Amino acid sequence: MTEQTVVGHLVQYAYIIAAALFILSLKWMNSPATARRGVFAGEVGMLLAIVGTLLLHGIMNWEWMLAAALIGTAIGVPLAYKMPITAVPQQTALSHACGALAAAMVGTAEYYRDTANLSAVTMVALIAETLLGFLTFTGSLMAAGKLQEVLPTRPITYRNQNFINLTLFAIALGIGIRLIIVPTDTFLFPIFAGLALLFGVLLIIPIGGADMPTVIALLNSYAGLSACAMGFVLNNKLLVIAGALDGSSGLILSIIMCKAMNRSFIDVLFGAFGQAQTAKAGSAQRNVHSASPEEAALILESASSVIIVTGYGLAVAQAQHKLRELYDILMRRGVDVKFAIHPVAGRMPGHMNVLLAEADIPYDRLYEMDDINSDFAQCDVAMVIGANDVANPGARKDKDSPIYGMPILDVDRARTVMVIKRSMSPGFAGIDNELFYMDKTLMLFGDAKAFVSEIVKELPAA
Ligand code: NAP
Repeated sequence: MTEQTVVGHLVQYAYIIAAALFILSLKWMNSPATARRGVFAGEVGMLLAIVGTLLLHGIMNWEWMLAAALIGTAIGVPLAYKMPITAVPQQTALSHACGALAAAMVGTAEYYRDTANLSAVTMVALIAETLLGFLTFTGSLMAAGKLQEVLPTRPITYRNQNFINLTLFAIALGIGIRLIIVPTDTFLFPIFAGLALLFGVLLIIPIGGADMPTVIALLNSYAGLSACAMGFVLNNKLLVIAGALDGSSGLILSIIMCKAMNRSFIDVLFGAFGQAQTAKAGSAQRNVHSASPEEAALILESASSVIIVTGYGLAVAQAQHKLRELYDILMRRGVDVKFAIHPVAGRMPGHMNVLLAEADIPYDRLYEMDDINSDFAQCDVAMVIGANDVANPGARKDKDSPIYGMPILDVDRARTVMVIKRSMSPGFAGIDNELFYMDKTLMLFGDAKAFVSEIVKELPAA
C-alpha cells in the first residue's frame, strides 16, 4: 500500500468517527446533564474533520491556510468570550452568516474552476449550495442587525411585498435552472448570486424582532442545507452528513420554538405574511401589592415548597449566582425548591438552562413546563424572577392577547406569588400581565441581582 492510500484510509476512519461524534453531540446536547460532553464531542468531531480534510487534499499553500486559521481564531475567540449572554442570538446569526458565505464562496470557486466539466447533477447541488448560501448570508446579517437594534426591529413592509419577493426568488431559481442546463453561460452566475443576496435581505426585513430568534433557527437550517449541498459538489460525505444534521436540527428547533410561542410556522417562514404582534396598552392605573426584601424573606422562611421561575431579566441582571445562594439557604432550611423552565424563557432556546447551569444549580432541580405545571397548585410560593410573558395567564384566557394560546407556566395557581422585576414595564410581547394584579401576588420591585441579595441577607441560614 502506498503512503497516499494509507492516508486515504486513515482519513475515511477519521470522517466516520467525526460523523458519529456529531450525532452523539446532538444527542448529548439534549439534556443539561450531558450538554458539556455534547459540546466537547462536537469540537473533537470538527477537529478530526478539519485535520482529515487537510491531509486528504494535499494542501498547496500552508501559509494561506495558517493565515486564514489565525484570522478566524483572532475574531472567534474574543467574540465568544466578550459577547454577553443576552447577545447570543445575534452572535449565532453572525456565525451563520460566516458559514453560509463560506459555502457560497466555495460553490462559486468550484463553478469558475471547472465550468466546462460540471455535470448536471453537480450543478443542481452547486446551485442549491450557492442560492441558500448567499441568501442565508445577507438574511443572517439582517437578523443580527435587527437583534442588535442597529436596524429597525419593526417589520418593514411595502405594497405587493410578497409578490415582489416571490417573483425575485422565481427569477433567481429560473436563472439557476438555466445554469444547470447550460453551465457555460457564465455571465448569468453573478446575476444569480446578486439576486440570491438581495432575496436574503428582502426575506428578513418584513419580519419583526419578535420572530427573529425563530428565524435564526431557520437560517441555521438553510446554512446546514447549503453545506450539505456543498458536500455533494465536493464529493465529501462528511460535509453531507454534517450539513444534513445542521439543516434538520435547525428546522426542528424552529418548529419547537413556533409551538412554544403559539406562532404559525408559515407566518415566520414567509415573514411578510406574518405581521408584527400588536401590543396592548398597559393598565398603569391599577393597584398592585408591593413588598420589601424583609417581607419576602419572612414569607420564604415559613414556606415548605418554592418553585422558581426565571426569565430574560435574570440574564440581564446576571443574578444566577445570587439565586444559587438563595437556593442553598432554602434547601438547608428544608424547603423543597424547584426551578420551572419554559421553552422560550429568555431570548434563545435553552437560555435559562445555560444560566442556571453556570451557577451550578443541580440539573435534577430543573423541570420542564409540562412536568411542573401541575405542581404549582400545591406549592406555597411561586417566585418569578425577571420573567413576564412566560407566566402571563392572559395567554390562557384572553382571546385578544397577542400571546393567546401560548403555553405558559401556571404560576397564578400557586398559594403566593412573588415577582421580582424593576417596574411595571411589559416583557418581550409588549403586553400587560394580569398576574401582577392578583391579590396573592407581591411585586418585589428592583434589579433581580440586588433584590435576591437583599433577601439572602435577610434569611436566617437555618
Ligand atoms: P420577558 O417577557 O421578556 O420579560 C422579562 C422581564 O424581565 C421584563 O418584564 C423586565 O421587566 C424584567 N427585567 C429586565 N431586566 C431586569 C433586571 N435587571 N432585573 C429584574 N427584572 C428585569 O421574558 P420571559 O418571561 O423570559 O419571556 C421570553 C419572551 O421572549 C417571550 O415572549 C418569548 O416568546 C420571547 N422569545 C423567546 C425566545 C427564546 O428562544 N427564548 C425566542 C423568541 C422570542 P422590568 O423592565 O420591569 O424590569
